[in-house]
Formats: sequence, structure tokens, C-alpha cells
Amino acid sequence: MFNRQKIADIIEQKRKTFIHVSDCIWDYAETRFEEIRSADLLCKTLEEEGFSVERGVGGMETAFIGSYGSGGPVVAILGEYDALSGLSQDRGIASHHPIKQGGNGHGCGHNLLGTGSLAAAVAVRHFMEENQIKGTIRYYGCPAEEGGSGKTIMVREGLFDDVDTAISWHPYSFNAVASVTNVANYQVYFKFKGKAAHAAGSPHLGRSALDALELMNIGANFLREHIIPEARLHYAITNSGGLAPNVVQAEAEVLYMVRAPELEQVDEIYHRVCKIARGAAMMTETEVDIIFDKGCSNLIPNRTLAAVMYDNYRKVGVPEFNEEEKAFARQIRTTMPEPDKKSILRMLSQLPVDKNLIQKIKEQELSTVLMPYINKTFRMTGSTDVGDVSWIVPTVQCAVNCFAMGTQLHSWQAVAQGGTSIGHKGMLHAGKVMAATAVDILLQPEVIDQAKAELKENLDGANYVCPIPTEIKPALSR
Ligand SMILES: [Zn+2]
Repeated sequence: MFNRQKIADIIEQKRKTFIHVSDCIWDYAETRFEEIRSADLLCKTLEEEGFSVERGVGGMETAFIGSYGSGGPVVAILGEYDALSGLSQDRGIASHHPIKQGGNGHGCGHNLLGTGSLAAAVAVRHFMEENQIKGTIRYYGCPAEEGGSGKTIMVREGLFDDVDTAISWHPYSFNAVASVTNVANYQVYFKFKGKAAHAAGSPHLGRSALDALELMNIGANFLREHIIPEARLHYAITNSGGLAPNVVQAEAEVLYMVRAPELEQVDEIYHRVCKIARGAAMMTETEVDIIFDKGCSNLIPNRTLAAVMYDNYRKVGVPEFNEEEKAFARQIRTTMPEPDKKSILRMLSQLPVDKNLIQKIKEQELSTVLMPYINKTFRMTGSTDVGDVSWIVPTVQCAVNCFAMGTQLHSWQAVAQGGTSIGHKGMLHAGKVMAATAVDILLQPEVIDQAKAELKENLDGANYVCPIPTEIKPALSR
């Protein structure tokens, strides 16, 4: 037994610091591998709290590890702090209002994620000291979760090799610990090179890279019908070859994402997409360069750790909100289309959840329900680089309510709320749940043994293969 209230008190005593850090990261809104100021602020705060910090780990300037204690067990708390491009939005208002047109915004709440994890690590560190608990607590500063797979590279570089357990969380519009799994993915650039010409005077002399790109996309769209239904193909045209219609485009580039439940399935679909790209190049007498950008593995849930985290979540409780916050959440909900509002309920309808509980969730603008622990693996359609950590270290995550019910991630509504007291409350609460879970694990090394045995069983003899080849170095953009 240990005193969870003491852990919560440590976080409450430092709440101003954590809110300041979160709001600064929200303001900086730095995207993949550019999180210089965000990482620096987290590092400085860790140093002020007595952690030794190693910066620039894994060949990434904005990756770092803060460490306190010595020897085993080693518990890692994972933090993210990258924003998304094109999601600039003012905080605390219930209408779409970008601060800067085309600017960045924290649409996935990673300002909260990184700081909630910081709060957890700081609380564990002080609790360990006060109670003379053996072991090491580390904060993993993981850059570029969005589109860069910073953790995958950190795993590849061996930075998790001596870790016994990893703990993380994500802001959502509900409270839960679930045995969810996420899908694996690859992200790859296809760069077409053609030959410029006057589009009216000598089109026969030109070879259009843009034609090739469009033909590739048509091919990929036909491919969709002939891949497994769980797979997803997305693309963004990152270079359309210029703005002049009277110039045959000499270059064009498209960025593809391929997602599927297993890495092997991703790889198989990826090779079919490559064939389509080469076919498009052949049709147009252009050339294509295929440049692998990043990938991540599917998530391996760990029920042993989930049970420990759920028990701590139940004991710590859920975040509570005041009337002003509820009124703001109601305003935010008026901006959501009906299908958005119902999305969580649709997900719940697939799970064995009590009808009365669903009714309560329906009625609340800010959920105070802790979802029942469901011992059934539920597949989310998105991906996370936490997946790669989960292949080599038993890993557990929770969801903590930081947003009005139904808020979609990667939306302006998420950005607007992530800089308010609603987000702050969820973030500090996540810190308490994670810290209590970490202490519980440090005090029961046998749980780590069980979790490791479960991971081995779940992998069923499969070895971890990093989806990002060694020769691929992290890059801002290509
Ligand atoms: Zn996220």
C-alpha cells in the first residue's frame, strides 16, 4: 500500500509550473523534429526538478531522456510535444479562428500529453526520494509522433533496451484504460521527374511529372478495392510541379501513407503501390524516385499492466469540471456535426458496455465516467509510434478526458480546448494516474515479470523488426 494522495499533492503543489509548460508548448506549436523550444522547456523543467537530462539522443536534436534514481526496475514515462500543420486556432473560443492563417496548432493535444507525462515523472521522482523507493524513473522526450515516428527511431537506436515498463496516455473526450491496438504504417515519398516544355508550343517535347502523379493516384484508388478492408491508403500532393498551366511540369511529388493491422500487410500493400508508381512513370516516360520516410508498428496491448493502471485510475478517480467549463464544452459541441458527437458512442456500441453507463455518457458534455475495463482487444484505425515501444517493453496507456464529448482529434476544436482549464485539468489528472501506476509497479517487481511474460506470449515467437531501415535518418522534410 502507498499513499496516492501524496502523489496527487506533489502534482497539485506544482500545478502552476505544469500549466505554464503546457501553455508555452501550445503557443510554440512546433511540428515534427522542429520542437526546439518545446523540448528545451521540458528539459529545463526536468533539470530544475533534479533529473539528469541527456539531450539530442538517437540522432534527433529534439529527443531527450530525463533520468532519476539508479538501477532497476526502470520505468519509462513517454512524452510527446509536436503540433500539426494547418491547425492554427485561438484558445478558449468556440468558433474557428486561426491565430495565423495556415499556421500550426496542437490538434492532438500533445502539449497536454508531454506535460501530463512530465507531471507524472516529477511526482514519481519526489515520491521515490521521500519513500526511499529503489529503481529509476525516466522521462522519454519523444519528438515527431505525427509523421516522424520519433519513438520508432529511439527503439531502433537501443534507447529502450534496459527499460522494464513504459507508461503513457493520450488526451481524449473520455476516461479509459483499454486493451486497444493500433495499426502499423509506412510513410513514403514518390518523386516524379519529367521534362519541362511549352504546354502549347511544344507539348510533344515535354514529359509531365504531374500526369505521372495523377495516374499513380488513379491506380492507387483502384487498388483500394483489392486490399484488406482494415487497410487504409492516404496521400498528400506535396509538390504539384508549379503554378503555371502553360509549362509541362518537370517534377511532382506525392506523400503516401499505408496502414494495416500488421507490418507484413503494410509491406505487401506498399510494394503494390510501388508497382503502380513505376507503371505511371512508364506510361508517361518519366522517372520515379521512391523515398522511404518513416513507419511504425502495431501496438501490443499488455493486460497485466492495464489491470494495474485501471486499479490506480479507479482509486485516483476522474477529472471533475466546473459550470463554466461545462458551459464552454456545450458551446464547443454546438460546432460539431451530429456524426462527430456520436462517434464515441458508436465505438462503445461495439463493446460490452452497460446501457445505463452509455446513457450517462450521452447526457454529459464533459465525461466524468471511467469506462469499465474491457478485457477485449479493440482495434483503432489510427497508428502511433508507441507501437514500436510496446514490441520490446511491456507498455500501458490510458485516455483522460481533456475535451468536450465527441471532440475529434486533429480538429480546431481540440486546439481551442487544449489551451484551457479543461485541458489542464485532464493533463494534471493524467499525471496523477500515471504516477500512481509507476509507483505501484516500482513497488511490485513481480508485476514486471508477469508483464514481460505476457509480452513474450503475445508476440508468439515474432521478433521485432524496425520498420524504419537503419540508413533512414530522421529529417525535417525531404
Ligand atoms: Zn496524438
